Amino acid sequence: MKHLYLIFVASSFTLIAWAQSPNTDKSLFRQLGSELPTPNTYRTASGAPGESYWQQRADYDIKVEVDDDKQRLIGKETITYTNNSPHVLTYVWVQLDQNVVDPESDTYKTKTNTMSERTSLMQLNSMIDNSFDGGFKLEYVRDVMGKDLKYTVNKTMMRVDLPMPLAAKGGKVVLNISWAYNINDRQNPALSADSRGGYEYFPEDGNYLYTLAQWYPRMAVYDDYNGWQHKQFLGQGEFTLPFGNFTVAITVPADHIVASTGVLQNGKEVLSAEQLKRFEMSKTADKPLVIVTQAEATEKEKTKATTKKTWIYKAENVRDFAFGTSRKYIWDAMGVKVEGSTQPVIMAMSYYPKEANPLYGQYSTEAVAHTLRVYSKHTIPYPYPVAISVEASNGMEYPMICFNYGRPEKDGTYSDRIKYGMLSVIFHEVGHNFFPMIVNSDERQWTWMDEGLNSFCQFLAEQEWQRDYPSGSGPAKSIVDYMKMDKSVQNPIMTNSESIIRFGDNAYGKPATALNILRETVMGRDLFDFSFREYAKRWAFKHPTPSDLFRTMEDASGVDLDWFWRGWFFTTDHVDISLENVTPFRMDTKNPEIEKPIAGKAAKEELENDITYQNNKRDLPTTAVERNKALEDFYNNYDPNAIVPSDKKAYDQYMSGLGEKEKAFMAKGLHFYQLDFANKGGLVMPLIIQFNFEDGTSEVKRIPAEIFRLNDQKVSKVFALAKPVVSVELDPQEETADTDRENNFFPRKAVPSRFELFKQSGGGRWSGGSGMNPMQKAKAETKN
Ligand SMILES: [Zn+2]
Repeated sequence: MKHLYLIFVASSFTLIAWAQSPNTDKSLFRQLGSELPTPNTYRTASGAPGESYWQQRADYDIKVEVDDDKQRLIGKETITYTNNSPHVLTYVWVQLDQNVVDPESDTYKTKTNTMSERTSLMQLNSMIDNSFDGGFKLEYVRDVMGKDLKYTVNKTMMRVDLPMPLAAKGGKVVLNISWAYNINDRQNPALSADSRGGYEYFPEDGNYLYTLAQWYPRMAVYDDYNGWQHKQFLGQGEFTLPFGNFTVAITVPADHIVASTGVLQNGKEVLSAEQLKRFEMSKTADKPLVIVTQAEATEKEKTKATTKKTWIYKAENVRDFAFGTSRKYIWDAMGVKVEGSTQPVIMAMSYYPKEANPLYGQYSTEAVAHTLRVYSKHTIPYPYPVAISVEASNGMEYPMICFNYGRPEKDGTYSDRIKYGMLSVIFHEVGHNFFPMIVNSDERQWTWMDEGLNSFCQFLAEQEWQRDYPSGSGPAKSIVDYMKMDKSVQNPIMTNSESIIRFGDNAYGKPATALNILRETVMGRDLFDFSFREYAKRWAFKHPTPSDLFRTMEDASGVDLDWFWRGWFFTTDHVDISLENVTPFRMDTKNPEIEKPIAGKAAKEELENDITYQNNKRDLPTTAVERNKALEDFYNNYDPNAIVPSDKKAYDQYMSGLGEKEKAFMAKGLHFYQLDFANKGGLVMPLIIQFNFEDGTSEVKRIPAEIFRLNDQKVSKVFALAKPVVSVELDPQEETADTDRENNFFPRKAVPSRFELFKQSGGGRWSGGSGMNPMQKAKAETKN
């Protein structure tokens, strides 16, 4: 094979540096080693559950009553706990999450705050008020025979000592627990965020709306990688729970409607004949049908029943159980078919007070159905028979049921912020059925494993709802402001739930964006979607850890993502890749017909550009040679760039020495550009390069991040292009969350930042207005 030697002409010549990093084990492309647990027979190196994988089980039979006069909950439960582990257990741990609002709670004690010159009573109360008499009041903990068991309450956790060791691999123990607690006001900022559930009081009609969550003593998780997960609940790190079946009898005032996890068992006893008929009809309806109308609910608000009813719900294979109850509830439902689901029809349902209409009635159940369809497509088909959205003052998720805010103004109008806020929170909270209710990750340890994955799927649902949906997180550029913040207010995604700073950005926005970047930019949709679904399939109804996700995504796609997980999940580095320089190169054709005119033109331009030459032309009317022709000789009229016969001869000789391939290559007339890149932010990313050509067209080249594998600080690459280039732009569609766009252009281009001009006095905005939302304004204008 004949070698091709090409000679390049350039103003400067630089040697490309080969592998410069002297310390290869610091390479951003080294494989994840000590960061991940060693694979074993429980969890394999492929990211799938291993042949010895086991998990515990807890089945519950509960009788609970809500006292609507005293806002108190009273319950008795029988827990049947199955020890599938290979270990004998002498005690078990139970979660007492209500103790987060006990007056002696560590949550109050460890909350940090500062005084400011202007402090409202509400703000002050949220700092110092621990007067609410919250927390579980335990009556007893007994064994299957009704004999008292020794138990020790350690804040939000309780150890129950077993009189007999619990056998490994299938041993069962029964706990009977009786308890009560005062239900907190979920509007109270000192309590609501930590307890999640509570009541809302409506002073206009004197009624209560209850959302009850973490309302019963729940088994903690014992597993192969943590042992007991009994890290205290401080309010931020949510819940870690085993799967089981539930039978729950809920006693409430007879005029209440109960919305609950599970399937209602005694509809004939608690619903009217008319309600039952409407419910049956809704199963085959193609739009939500109202089972309790607004008129019926409003009528009930006027009186209070003195009798009680008991609603019995059963739920299979769930990690938790929550319910809402009120006489204020409007209730609508629609049967949804999801391809591949084991359920022939899934009931999408909503429960809400009249205060949430007209918004909730129009959108909630449709949004529930939409979430089931989109998430089922991207993970596993929704396996439960029911999915419910209940209107309440803040969003929170449980199996089959979630509580989502969505309340218009009193006049029935609402801002776009309220509308899209409501839709997004419904997509999000219903979406939590998949992460962590089914793909049951450890929320107490890793918030991002459910919130991040769920926020990513929420983005998919939003974008499938409407094309111009104003999504908050998902697009790469939405995370730029966070990623360029001072590193003191960031910690890696791989941080324990209770220690995360800037919770929303860290555990929701950043992982959601990272997954979207993997899907759109690093892996492509086909490889990503297959692998993400594989993760959901492998870990549905099991307990995955981060390494199971990281490994599965690589195992199923054949893409080495260690560099990506390391950079995005284990560090606080950001993306800032700079296009440092673009150097054009032109091939020396050796053809005197081409090269000599070019050289002649360049020599002439160089001379004419010289400052002395220019000034003398202006200041000296003539030179010595111009005055005296006798001073001229051959060289005064010799053009070194004129083509002479010997040039042609040399060219013919050169060409005859080249083979056909070389000649063909030369005939292409390619333009060569060396691009130099510098990694300034720390995260390596693919290089997406847009060349803009002289003729106004452009072309995008996509280079995988592995271009940085030999040198993760600086790389250069040569491109051969058919047309001359006028400018180059890095990441033209803002796919990589690059925090500094100015160094993405060559030649450099200033990227304008926006600022808003304020009036010098008064402080009001120029474009303020009446404080009305657009719907109110439109109504006001049509009246005039
Ligand atoms: Zn969430």
